[in-house]
Amino acid sequence: MGESAPAPLSIPTRKQVIAQHKLRGGRVAAVLPVHYPRALFAAFDILPVEVWGPPGRDTAEGDAHLPAYACSIVRSALAFLAAGGLDAADYLVVPHTCDALQGLGSVLLDFVRPAQAVLPLYLPRDGGEKGRAFLAAEIRALFERLVELTGRRPGEAELRAAIARDEQADALLARVSRGRAGLALGDRELYALLRSREFLPPEQFCELAAQALERRGRGERAGTGVVISGMVVEPLAILDVLARGGAVVVADDLGCCGRRLYPLGHSDDPFTRLAERLVAGSPDPTRGGSVRERAALLRALCADFGARAVIFTVVKFCEPELFFVPLLSRALEGRGLRCLTIETDVSQPLPAQVTTRIEALLESLT
Ligand code: SF4
Repeated sequence: MGESAPAPLSIPTRKQVIAQHKLRGGRVAAVLPVHYPRALFAAFDILPVEVWGPPGRDTAEGDAHLPAYACSIVRSALAFLAAGGLDAADYLVVPHTCDALQGLGSVLLDFVRPAQAVLPLYLPRDGGEKGRAFLAAEIRALFERLVELTGRRPGEAELRAAIARDEQADALLARVSRGRAGLALGDRELYALLRSREFLPPEQFCELAAQALERRGRGERAGTGVVISGMVVEPLAILDVLARGGAVVVADDLGCCGRRLYPLGHSDDPFTRLAERLVAGSPDPTRGGSVRERAALLRALCADFGARAVIFTVVKFCEPELFFVPLLSRALEGRGLRCLTIETDVSQPLPAQVTTRIEALLESLT
């Protein structure tokens, strides 16, 4: 008798993880995209839970406070907040990732004034020494704000321990993401695992990632290789269209995944270490990365993982991506790679014409 297929990974939901954390007295921070020092919150026993929408929501309650050109992630997040979806959160963290999130931060602080404390985080657009120093100072200021809010002051040892746990989880995240070719996971399950890093405590993520790494694949990842780029792969039906067309995502440069495979830190100073890791991630338009760097990275991903096409999933009105994609496509097509740009709205199902365009791309690759 042949070996039976491994049982699917048992990934808890955000709601379950939040309930468990609250039950044992912890607090929760709802965090908007993209970059933030996860370990800083863990040192205060605050569980960071990321808010990428959530997808598939009616955004009307958020729309009333935002310009019509705000992206659907920001509109959905505000609608979710207004509908009580973030009531379990004690804090709202709003990194200044882009104009849309900067606008959301102002709307929350000046107009909506939610029950939760709103914590903005300014990010440098420079990955060098100046950017590191700026971000370390920002993280230190956030630390002091959390001391004020929680009445606790974690010592250096607690900060270091939280950073060590986070670095271990990030190392496993990178192993799963880069070693996906050999794993017994289809794209839906793979991305459910990768994205569980958005809300699982690091120890729980490490357990799941270790389970996934033990299961060697038996053809789950066979197919035409494509690389995906953009902020987030939503709606998830995109992955189903790829699977139906015989394609697999061999690598990604997504804001929610591939751009956050942060390397280990080096500094002994916890704040500098948290900052140096964030600025050392792969080139990201929201952190001032250049077209040249991103084109080189995408070419390398295609070459290393055997892809002939890049699919850019651009959230409608996402300025950081829209400035880059035409130039990136031209640079990649000039090197013989196929590129497809699809516009998505996380609050809407995948439009039929987008499905058709993905199918047409896949047919042309076979
Ligand atoms: S999708 Fe783009 S515009 Fe929207 S929050 Fe993310 S970076 Fe900002």
